[in-house]
Amino acid sequence: ALSSPKDRLASLRAELEERNPAQPEFHQAAREVLDTLAPVLAARPEYAQARIVERLVEPERQIIFRVPWQDDRGAVHINRGFRVEFNSALGPYKGGLRFHRSVNLGVVKFLGFEQVFKNALTGLGIGGGKGGSDFDPHGRSDAEVMRFCQSFMTELHRHIGEQTDVPAGDIGVGTREIGYLFGQYRRITNRWEAGVLTGKGQGWGGSAVRTEATGYGSVLFAAEMLSLRGEDLEGQAAVVSGSGNVAVHTIEKLLRSGAHPLTCSDSAGYVVDEKGIDLELLRQIKEVERGRVSEYAERRGASARYVPGGRVWDVPADLAFPSATQNELTEQDAVTLVRNGVKAVAEGANMPTTPEAVHLLQEAGVAFGPGKAANAGGVAVSALEMRQNAARESWSADRVEDELAAIMRDIHRTCHETAERYGAPGDYVTGANIAGFERVADAMLAQGLV
Ligand code: GLU
Repeated sequence: ALSSPKDRLASLRAELEERNPAQPEFHQAAREVLDTLAPVLAARPEYAQARIVERLVEPERQIIFRVPWQDDRGAVHINRGFRVEFNSALGPYKGGLRFHRSVNLGVVKFLGFEQVFKNALTGLGIGGGKGGSDFDPHGRSDAEVMRFCQSFMTELHRHIGEQTDVPAGDIGVGTREIGYLFGQYRRITNRWEAGVLTGKGQGWGGSAVRTEATGYGSVLFAAEMLSLRGEDLEGQAAVVSGSGNVAVHTIEKLLRSGAHPLTCSDSAGYVVDEKGIDLELLRQIKEVERGRVSEYAERRGASARYVPGGRVWDVPADLAFPSATQNELTEQDAVTLVRNGVKAVAEGANMPTTPEAVHLLQEAGVAFGPGKAANAGGVAVSALEMRQNAARESWSADRVEDELAAIMRDIHRTCHETAERYGAPGDYVTGANIAGFERVADAMLAQGLV
């Protein structure tokens, strides 16, 4: 006889940790989902029968490869490349590539696992995967980055394809890197296969608004959460962490919506600007010069202050957008945010809030939008890019932005309604996990034991 869903999930969790040693981020991401599934497993005994959860936590395929490359002085470097093809029940594997020192198999698995549920929530027919390398692009020339990307793709190309697995960007991978990767894929395969990568430049198969989509989407998600509380973005003070693609476009959308984004950060510290972040200056420093946020404070004048080593969460605000990296918002930060009266938190990054901090925010009545839902705008527009590529079309920015807004509203409604249906009103974590899970689980059930 089967034990209760709660007991089964607890033993599954223990087994998962034993079978995947030294992967703390993957354990955390899996636990966060498993902890919310008991009600749906109780309602749908066929899932347990088919061992859907046990299958879901095991990636369909994991690829680890050597990436040798030469720097500008001729020295040889060896990095490690990864692609984890997690689940393809709903469509081709889809998810970004992360180039960062911290990348290892456990990190890629956590990201791939999250991606499965996030992609299901978009409703756009994409499975989940993730990849990357422990390559550190900081301080590397364009030529070095190009040689690294070419070497990376020399192996990756045999595993991907527009109907198979479609990588995109993540931390450390933007339009420049996607360009080098695409060029090498095209050269090796002799195919102009636009849909094999997303986040391409707009002149060669990329979609309008793809770069903006993650940041814009998380602000749209926050607006939806606020509207249920009878509020809007106008006049709200916001703290944003990070200064990469997601943070910059979160700031841009907040400014356009009449809100006041006060901060941005990098690994060395943060900037607080009483007048609101000057987007043009930030973009000049980050995107053109590839510099640090400390330079922003030096050039901005009296309204801005640089706090080395500090945390943006210390700045009082109505809204918080963690948009840098995993586990950047801790329980202590959540205490500070709540004490300062924060109303809503929307995760632009993947798993930026620790489990203890999520719990504390939710207990305090803060509207909390988990990354799987709040940052799904990026991958959603990637799916729209795939659609444009398949049809050999190029849609206007207005059209893509309208579709993005409709998708974010739909994701918000789905999470909200699912949470209510399973007795957790207002709990977007439960809503996102169960809604994503049901879509993947139903497809897996229908497709048999594969
Ligand atoms: N890396 C992004 C994410 O975390 C986007 C992935 C994609 O566009 O495929 O969802």
